[in-house]
Amino acid sequence: MKLLDGKALAQKMRAEIKAEIEAAAVIPGLAVVIVGDDPASKIYVRNKVRACEEVGMRSFVYELPKETSQSDLEGLLDRLAASDEVHGILLQLPLPKTLDAQSAMSRIPAKKDVDGFDPENLGALVLNKHRYAACTPSGVMELLKSAEIDCTGKSAVVLGRSNTVGKPMALLLLNANATVTVCHSKTQNLGEICKRADILVSAIGSPKCITKEMVKEGAVVVDVGINRDAAGKLCGDVDFEEVSKIASYITPVPGGVGPMTITMLLKNTCIAAWKE
Ligand code: NAP
Repeated sequence: MKLLDGKALAQKMRAEIKAEIEAAAVIPGLAVVIVGDDPASKIYVRNKVRACEEVGMRSFVYELPKETSQSDLEGLLDRLAASDEVHGILLQLPLPKTLDAQSAMSRIPAKKDVDGFDPENLGALVLNKHRYAACTPSGVMELLKSAEIDCTGKSAVVLGRSNTVGKPMALLLLNANATVTVCHSKTQNLGEICKRADILVSAIGSPKCITKEMVKEGAVVVDVGINRDAAGKLCGDVDFEEVSKIASYITPVPGGVGPMTITMLLKNTCIAAWKE
């Protein structure tokens, strides 16, 4: 078994991004907007800002109170959309229930939507002509590429169908010529389907639910899930201890897909700044 080491790959990619920024005429800028005081969101934002600083990217953080109105939020997004210094805009989700996330997100122009969540970028992904795809699935593809895992003709099973992870993940694998099956909470015979996978990507959000019995010997196993086990320890969707005994490649949690997500955000912001 080989580890798909996201931490190491993220470090390597961030060093490359830093060198590119040092040599660039235009310094990429990322604006992060957070509404309310969700503690997890605050940590994510802090990590993103720190990552920007590390590579020499500019970051602009807007922390708005939870009482912020839809028009104030959209007004800010409109100003950021028009700013020459801001190349990428990230609206940290979830928003307070009083706000309409879809409507707010529609104010972010596709070129600045470095999360790749907007309908234009998602549609372009369907056509395999996307500028950016969502950061987490893109990070998974980079991990596969780094290990020279060719998806062509492979049976890939994606667990989860969220717009931010599962669906773009399935499209990226399909675009890479895998034969893709997408599973969700209504899927029957999940274990049987998983067992057929040459490449298994789990994005369910359920601690250690993918057991050794569900995995084919020699499969590549990518664990997107971030959960806490009964003891409160961070873990993925996959029972790493057991599954790592039969997988050819596997991502650990933490240190697998997680570090790649922010790295892809940095990469997408560079694309936003430098590519027409
Ligand atoms: P989500 O929106 O809650 O979607 C979860 C998906 O899993 C849904 O499609 C759901 O099916 C499906 N599902 C739930 N239980 C299932 C089961 N028992 N069997 C089969 N499918 C099941 O979550 P998400 O935002 O995609 O995130 C998924 C996980 O990835 C979470 O643990 C999250 O924390 C993690 N995550 C990690 C990163 C990272 O950087 N590593 C980034 C984003 C998310 P239905 O559609 O039928 O409800």
